[in-house]
Amino acid sequence: MAEKIKMTTPLVEMDGDEMTRVMWKMIKDILLLPYIDLKTEYYDLSLKNRDATEDRVTVESAEATKKFGVAVKCATITPNAQRMEEYNLKEMWKSPNGTIRAILDGTVFRAPITVKGINPLVPTWTKPITIARHAYGDVYKNSEIEVGEGDKAELLVTDRDGGVTKRPIHEFTESGGIIQGQYNTDKSIAGFARSCFNYAVDTGQDLWFATKDTISKKYDHRFKDIFEEIYSNEYKSAFEAAGTEYFYTLIDDAVARVMRSEGGYVWACKNYDGDVMSDMLAAAFGSLGMMTSALVSPDGVYEFEAAHGTVTRHYYKHLKGEKTSTNSMATLFAWAGALKKRGELDGLAELSAFAEKLETAAIQTIESGVMTGDLHAVSTLAEKRKVDTREFITEIDKNLKSVIHGGE
Ligand code: NAP
Ligand code: MG
Repeated sequence: MAEKIKMTTPLVEMDGDEMTRVMWKMIKDILLLPYIDLKTEYYDLSLKNRDATEDRVTVESAEATKKFGVAVKCATITPNAQRMEEYNLKEMWKSPNGTIRAILDGTVFRAPITVKGINPLVPTWTKPITIARHAYGDVYKNSEIEVGEGDKAELLVTDRDGGVTKRPIHEFTESGGIIQGQYNTDKSIAGFARSCFNYAVDTGQDLWFATKDTISKKYDHRFKDIFEEIYSNEYKSAFEAAGTEYFYTLIDDAVARVMRSEGGYVWACKNYDGDVMSDMLAAAFGSLGMMTSALVSPDGVYEFEAAHGTVTRHYYKHLKGEKTSTNSMATLFAWAGALKKRGELDGLAELSAFAEKLETAAIQTIESGVMTGDLHAVSTLAEKRKVDTREFITEIDKNLKSVIHGGE
């Protein structure tokens, strides 16, 4: 066999839990270690080790990601009452993804892996649609009050010198009701915008953004203005050089256009829009096992992972010695994404090229009819064969070998 591909800077590797931890090792053993002199800074984010380290390992892995610039993360358990008992935990540790996101101040981009035979529910969507949700503020950090009949509600701001600005909300003369206050910050919106522009430039795609600025003339309009300003000052020339565009429209117009589009762009959404639309897109594109996720910070730090969880139901079968047919595509694409990025940053063309071959081989495997149960149930291919978790990965390896040799 040819010499292994060398790396210069390590990748931050965040190991995780359950079935995804099982697949993690298979991917490394079968598809990575035989080909690459893999250099990683390893952090064990399994629930057991998070508990043993009082969750310091999660914080340390995020700090290492800031330092090295690229991480790949396995799915992890977010503990609940049942897990407290199952793992005899000292504390109900917070979601690692939440902790890491708070430290990197990043935006999550979710993109489906599209293959022949797995058709999105919207037939025109021939290319993936990547969705980015601004996961900060708005209705998720609101203050709400129930008000009675005869009450008068006002918006009041006290500035740093004690000066007061007031706006009427409503006089509840005929009936009681409800009011809500929400906020966002210029800093968070600007960080979101930069993450989106970076990701779009990196992946060579158009960026769409939409709000309801015609109705919300200050709140939503601020989002529009901040995006526009950052685009013109910092990204316009990169978009022009790539032949891509930044497209702003109203949210209802955006939804209508998305339904008629062929895909192939990044759709940036305000917090609530992203919450709702990401679930719609995930369902319409098919299996959870095919949805990838990347956390991108405003200064261009990347963390790649699968969008799905630890696939607990399959893991319990695996523990009983039963065969499982769990889809490793999203986890494999997380590794490929991280290796590609590492290669780009370090000028290692061979590493990036290997990552692309890995993706090609994985897609070819499914398109040749070899797939896990989740895809087997929905694939429209005439000839298809359901394989178990390990066999799927070994079949990818066979294709990888021919992709590598075909390319020589
Ligand atoms: P899940 O792990 O995503 O699995 C839910 C169901 O979706 C599975 O039972 C399976 O359906 C299907 N599925 C998901 N991924 C699949 C794959 N790769 N291949 C085949 N089928 C797949 O969600 P969950 O069961 O609600 O959560 C399990 C654990 O994951 C929880 O402890 C949760 O905290 C954690 N979680 C972590 C992350 C993360 O780290 N990013 C995200 C979400 C959840 P069938 O059983 O019908 O085959
Ligand atoms: Mg949602």
